Amino acid sequence: MNVIKPDEGISQEYRRYGARPWPSARPRVVIIGAGFGGLSSVRALGDKDVDVLVIDRNNYHGFWPLLYQVATAGLEPESVAYPVRAIIRRYSNVSFMMAEVVRIDPVAKLVYTSTTALPYDYLIIAAGSANNYFGNDTLSEHTFGLKDVEDAELLRNTVLANFEYAVSEADPAIRQRLMTLIVVGGGPTGVELAGAFVELVNHVLVHDYPMLDIREARVVLVEAGATLLSSFSPDLQANALARLRKMGVEVRLHTAVAGVEQDRVSFADGSSLDAAVVVWAAGVKGAPLAETLGIQLARGGRISVRSTLNLVDYPEIFAVGDIAYLEDPRVRRQGRGPTPFAMVAPVAVQMGALAARNILAYRYRRELRSFSYFDKGNMATIGRRSAVLEAFGIRLVGYLAWVGWLVVHLMFLVGFRNRVVVFLNWAYSYITYDRGLRLITGYKPEELKPPTPKRVHLHSVKK
Ligand SMILES: Cc1cc2nc3c(=O)[nH]c(=O)nc-3n(C[C@H](O)[C@H](O)[C@H](O)COP(=O)(O)OP(=O)(O)OC[C@H]3O[C@@H](n4cnc5c(N)ncnc54)[C@H](O)[C@@H]3O)c2cc1C
Repeated sequence: MNVIKPDEGISQEYRRYGARPWPSARPRVVIIGAGFGGLSSVRALGDKDVDVLVIDRNNYHGFWPLLYQVATAGLEPESVAYPVRAIIRRYSNVSFMMAEVVRIDPVAKLVYTSTTALPYDYLIIAAGSANNYFGNDTLSEHTFGLKDVEDAELLRNTVLANFEYAVSEADPAIRQRLMTLIVVGGGPTGVELAGAFVELVNHVLVHDYPMLDIREARVVLVEAGATLLSSFSPDLQANALARLRKMGVEVRLHTAVAGVEQDRVSFADGSSLDAAVVVWAAGVKGAPLAETLGIQLARGGRISVRSTLNLVDYPEIFAVGDIAYLEDPRVRRQGRGPTPFAMVAPVAVQMGALAARNILAYRYRRELRSFSYFDKGNMATIGRRSAVLEAFGIRLVGYLAWVGWLVVHLMFLVGFRNRVVVFLNWAYSYITYDRGLRLITGYKPEELKPPTPKRVHLHSVKK
């Protein structure tokens, strides 16, 4: 590894990525992650008296709340992602490096990528989250995740290709397995995904595959707890459950997954279900980068932060968004046990902005501010034309909530082009019931072989 010591080669490294000559008298702020938290920090530090370097393994910002629509052929991947450089170019003091950060050395104040080491005066860790399989390797091996654009494309490709295989499959048991999809986890992602998949099958694939008996297709949503959408109020939970069932999703509550083998899910009660595609939406933890800090991590592999969002032992390091663990005082006031702020976009955005402001406060010797969350509410879609929404004491279900969901997501999507493309796609799907993006990409035709009971996913190598 090409390690650069704190005072050697700095000018060279930063000149390569930086917008202005180096060394500079100004503090160097490195931001790891150009997601919701990282970009919010960029906006607050843009054109301020600091030099900012944003590092992300991808050259785009991903708008994950719409990822399930990529997986279900509703949107193209490009419309839920936006190039980071196009966002930061308006700020003269912000630079970008596309690289995987592999380690943070908080003592030497260095961030290591796979090729170099970069010094910082202040660090904002906004690296997000990863799937949590709770130590069960079979889950990571045999399930699909939905955490980035590649995951969504792989899922879409595999579901569509399985229907192609089903056409030439004579064995009814294998055919049914190919047309069965299980989503594990009844949170907003699981609910949205299951709803969108059942609509894809019932409104689109039914016409694409007249040679298949679509009644053999199954979309199953499995939840270990007693309700779906546990963060919503009971009447909205009940509404979501009823609506999903009406749409044709088989919802199984009180059903814990014990393990997943190739094409089969076994449950804690001893039963099992065959399915060619199993999606894991039942747990997230802090991004693995947190483990490299060499500090004791909080529950869920997240970085424990003070109320001012910096670390107790390293006050120049801030953690924001999904990777940060900060207890939510509102929950405590309600008499419930210690619960961290939820892993949702508004928390990441507000934390990112505060971390940036607190870095500027350090710079100008002002007092740091504590995080106080402005809760704008919760929402989730349940298929076409329906959603649940609670905000500012208002609870909505059905069409109005769905319109609210559309407006909010269009507003927060980054990039004018993306907003237009997404709006047109939604309008097209709404009017026609069709989804125009049913491409199976990235496969060679010879991979479309008749299925055998042993075959797993089309892509043998999964991340
Ligand atoms: C499918 C899905 C649906 C969701 N739906 C909603 C919703 O409807 N509403 C809502 O509020 N929230 C939703 N969320 C959660 C929301 O997206 C997250 O809470 C939010 O993205 C957290 O922001 P963040 O900045 O912490 O992380 P992210 O936005 O995930 O950004 C992390 C960034 O860090 C980069 N990164 C990670 N590790 C490294 C590394 N080692 N080196 C370099 N770069 C790295 C990643 O590439 C990424 O760009 C959803 C999440 C998913 C996955």
